[in-house]
Amino acid sequence: MYADTVIDVAISSNKTHKSRGCLRRTRRIVNAQTPEEGRRLFFCSKWVICGVILASLLVINLFNVPNTSTNSQTLHLFLHCLFIFQIYSHWKQVRRLQPLFNDGVWIDNPPRGWEFCSICHTHRPPRSHHCPLCDSCILKRNHHCHFTGVCIGLGNQRNFVFFILWIILACCYGLLLCAPLLSKNYIPLELSWRLLFGYFLPPFYIFMPLLGYSSWSGSFIMITVASQFAALLFSSALLQHQTKLILNNQTDYDHRKKNLSYSKGTLFNLRLIFGPHLSLAFLSIFIPRLNVRSRERDCIYGRPQYTKIM
Ligand SMILES: [Zn+2]
Ligand SMILES: [Zn+2]
Repeated sequence: MYADTVIDVAISSNKTHKSRGCLRRTRRIVNAQTPEEGRRLFFCSKWVICGVILASLLVINLFNVPNTSTNSQTLHLFLHCLFIFQIYSHWKQVRRLQPLFNDGVWIDNPPRGWEFCSICHTHRPPRSHHCPLCDSCILKRNHHCHFTGVCIGLGNQRNFVFFILWIILACCYGLLLCAPLLSKNYIPLELSWRLLFGYFLPPFYIFMPLLGYSSWSGSFIMITVASQFAALLFSSALLQHQTKLILNNQTDYDHRKKNLSYSKGTLFNLRLIFGPHLSLAFLSIFIPRLNVRSRERDCIYGRPQYTKIM
């Protein structure tokens, strides 16, 4: 039961280690283990997402939209606004609903299943774990998300899933519009060495215009398409993993230990995260939650009187 605490202590005792060299520093930022490194990684990740979105918008608006009818232009404008609004609003909600357990108290006789966190010096409810990047215990902790800069757990998992879902939809829309431009603006789709280097080896994207095989705008489109494709693959894998966890009412920790004891049927598990309006929930953050968080909370703390301690 105390294995995570031991790992957390080991990680926090490693904080004083100073890195040297650019490569080592980058590696340390990617494997962030302190709040400061976590903030740096979040800052980088945030601008990567913004960069991909801005580049996609630029390519779509420069090469696709001007060639379409007025009606299609209006549709594209509507879709642009919809994707940006949905991604931003769910991203904001994930951050707003960060499941910190920061109002815990030292209890002489803690309820059954509560563990002591040696870093926060409080007892924490079952399924909570300490996050070294948030520097706090997290309720029903899944993992720390570097793209939102907070932990995913009790209450914000639903918005995290919708955040990924809207990114996947936006990537599909972007790929459908940007990929057909490659043959005309970058390298023609015919069997050749240029095609092999130009399409499948990312370092060569930037060299193709220098070698005279493509225009700079073609290279820019290729980088945008490759980023969208990478984002699509990464988000799809993440969504598949999150769906599996939600269907079994598991956290990442439960999943690793193959613990299925919290599962109470697929429909119950789904409603626990998404609320009663399952089919409508992903459309907007304004679909009522109907105490999703308090229902989850009751399931975590067991009997309701334990919630009064908080
Ligand atoms: Zn803690
Ligand atoms: Zn965290």
